Amino acid sequence: MKQQVEDYLKKVYRTIKERDPEQAEFLEAVADFLRTIGPALEKHPEYIQANLLERLTEPERVIQFRVPWIDDEGAYQVNRGFRVQFNSAIGPYKGGLRFHPSVNLSIIKFLGFEQIFKNALTGLPIGGGKGGADFNPKGKSDNEIMRFCQSFMTELSRHIGSARDVPAGDIGVGGRELGYLYGQYKRLREADRGVLTGKGLSYGGSLVRTEATGFGLAYYTAEILRDLKTDFKNKKVVVSGAGNVAIYTIQKVAELGGRVITCSDSAGYVVDKSGIDYKLVQQIKEIERGRIKEYAARVETAVYYPGSVWDAELNYDIALPCATQNEIDDQKAQQLAANGAKVVAEGANMPSSTAAINIYQQHGIIYGPAKAANAGGVAVSALEMSQNKMQLTWDFAEVDQRLQQIMHAIYQESITTAKEYGVTDNLLSGTNIAGFIKVADAMMAQGLV
Ligand code: GLU
Repeated sequence: MKQQVEDYLKKVYRTIKERDPEQAEFLEAVADFLRTIGPALEKHPEYIQANLLERLTEPERVIQFRVPWIDDEGAYQVNRGFRVQFNSAIGPYKGGLRFHPSVNLSIIKFLGFEQIFKNALTGLPIGGGKGGADFNPKGKSDNEIMRFCQSFMTELSRHIGSARDVPAGDIGVGGRELGYLYGQYKRLREADRGVLTGKGLSYGGSLVRTEATGFGLAYYTAEILRDLKTDFKNKKVVVSGAGNVAIYTIQKVAELGGRVITCSDSAGYVVDKSGIDYKLVQQIKEIERGRIKEYAARVETAVYYPGSVWDAELNYDIALPCATQNEIDDQKAQQLAANGAKVVAEGANMPSSTAAINIYQQHGIIYGPAKAANAGGVAVSALEMSQNKMQLTWDFAEVDQRLQQIMHAIYQESITTAKEYGVTDNLLSGTNIAGFIKVADAMMAQGLV
């Protein structure tokens, strides 16, 4: 049986590689996944019989479109927009939109693929999707952002809906962009609050959605620490990034007693030994839309360094990468291990390369994969959908409590699944198998879809 499973996994990988050899990030995400789910196939040979993995790795639908817009100088600009509707076995496609110059089909497909299992792990009825554009919001005026969002939504609007596909934010898409996107949607279609999540509180958003990914990451990490018979108190924590995920991770880690000593952007990082002030990061990045270098100019205890925070020689216990994919490669992972980190939990999507994950394993570093660790964002998005449907709003404490319960359940489920399938060595396999089984079960029940 083992051999049959291995042959099948190899065949699946060969097929997708032959089909899209240039999609490096997508191939990496799938390879990381396939590497861990063998035990699930051994237990369920019917999945091989149904060729489930070839079906699962091919998106149900890929939409690519032109996004024309006019800049402030009056020049005509064109970007490329995407929506990958990857899997609807469990519910409507759900996942964010990313606006970043690096966006291409490979990136959106890798994010959409991850989203399928992340969303399944939340236990809420949402399928997986992702979208975005190769638009660079950096340096753009408010009006340019608005015109871009309007043009993007003009096309996207025909493909989405509260029961069909529900986008939200990701890198480069926050409250401001979601507001413009929703405004344009309403001009084109019937008002449908549940068509987007991450909306502003004044027009159908949910409390805690802004904080959800960061808070969820902190809650998930606290679960790991509890199993290690410890907690955040007196722990030094390194966070990368300075966006929505990083900011609220820093806030919650501090509230749970830890000390976050860094944050970063694409140019460099700040070390503040007295603990990063998340409100100042928020002021600089979200209100002034400036660079993180500014933080050090305003805080006496802080020092700015150009380059990656993962190359820094620093002493810390916990690493929470919250910037972007593949920010930690093998060399950076070696540095992180040498710095004394005992736990890595991922706020970004796929921030650790395959080689980096292997190095964590070699050093006995506990590794909380993105699908589980950052699922809090999309979980509260699903709670926003529920509130929209019921036409009511839950208060902050209620949503926060549900978020805590969900993160607890995700962690517990990956532990119990790992035990059940005899993969007690790490959280990665348990997480992947738990997400996979939920999706596979739903697909099998629905026949050849
Ligand atoms: N972009 C977030 C993620 O990677 C959230 C998606 C959502 O809320 O739909 O999970």
